[in-house]
Amino acid sequence: MQRLGEKYQSVEAFGWAARDSSGHLSPFVFSRRETGEEEVRVKVLYCGVCHSDLHCLKNEWHSSIYPLVPGHEIVGEVTEIGRKVSKFSIGDKIGVGCIVDSCRACESCREDQENYCTKSVATYNGVHYDGTVNYGGYSDHIVVDERYAVKIPHTLPLASAAPLLCAGISMYSPMKYFGLAGPGKHIGIVGLGGLGHIGVRFAKAFGSKVTVVSSTAGKSKDALEIFGADGFLVSTDEDQMQAAMGTMDGIIDTVSASHPILPLIGLLKPSGKLVLLGATEKPFDLHAFSLILGRKSIAGSAIGGIKETQEMINFAAEHGIKAEIETISMEYVNTAMDRLAKGDVRYRFVIDIANTLTVTRS
Ligand code: NAP
Ligand code: ZN
Repeated sequence: MQRLGEKYQSVEAFGWAARDSSGHLSPFVFSRRETGEEEVRVKVLYCGVCHSDLHCLKNEWHSSIYPLVPGHEIVGEVTEIGRKVSKFSIGDKIGVGCIVDSCRACESCREDQENYCTKSVATYNGVHYDGTVNYGGYSDHIVVDERYAVKIPHTLPLASAAPLLCAGISMYSPMKYFGLAGPGKHIGIVGLGGLGHIGVRFAKAFGSKVTVVSSTAGKSKDALEIFGADGFLVSTDEDQMQAAMGTMDGIIDTVSASHPILPLIGLLKPSGKLVLLGATEKPFDLHAFSLILGRKSIAGSAIGGIKETQEMINFAAEHGIKAEIETISMEYVNTAMDRLAKGDVRYRFVIDIANTLTVTRS
């Protein structure tokens, strides 16, 4: 079925898509729209591999639209600009994250929190206002309204900046919003993966004290020595967890799979907050008393607004914050997904789109 708007998609594009919930990615030719008046066309240089890509590929959130081209940690170069574009010029290095449009009129949009607009449009697996399905950054180029893109400062290495567009902002925003960013605050970061490791770096740059809570004892050295955490707890070690009870002002939980949260609530000081970022499929087991005694709260947080994303990128450039990455080729992406599912990544895969995508087109 042709969707409204597809007839305007006249520019050929090439990427890798999954055709079903096996999640297997393979070459895919499709079309993108002409560059609109307020839009830029971006040649994708690098795209990070977020665990959300894996959730979507496998339809773990029961909302996947196939064919599905993932990718929302995009860094690229502007190759074409619309007549009314004022923020970017041709040749600029820019970033595109998880959303590419929103209603622009609701309270959230007016307050620069487009990420909470109920009509926001996801970069991939989202349906655009013209009725077309969006395809993400595992592709040669993308067209985006300039309002939903950010500038990448010259001092940031492009490949390791890519994960900031989702993982970076997803950690930065709740630390600030929930008052955990700054000296005197003790943050727990649960799950030392793509989000978690960048979170440690931001938290340290804010001056907070950081303890990583991990299910992998072998990550202790990286947490403490490479990322600069102040402490490391193995979540399955009851003695360690017991000794740390009541010590944290807030916890940011990035775990991508079902896991017990009661021990995490126990780590909080009175009035402490547990902020859930990991988008797990199954509901959590929760007892009211774990919150009542100590006036604790559980919250969620989703990425951040575009203005805050620019602020986060500028802060990262100023403080030399980047992701710890393993750069991969497009051909390697299915192996990378298998490894990500097993937790075998230190700490984010980034696809070198510019140098490795075209050769996969036969
Ligand atoms: P990731 O790189 O796979 O990291 C997740 C980490 O969680 C793993 O490294 C592992 O850390 C821990 N973990 C995984 N399975 C576990 C299990 N069964 N039990 C305990 N710990 C486990 O994933 P990511 O890209 O950081 O994304 C994490 C989650 O956040 C995903 O669900 C993703 O969809 C979601 N997300 C949310 C937002 C948002 O704005 N809310 C934005 C982006 C992503 P340890 O080895 O240290 O335990
Ligand atoms: Zn993501």
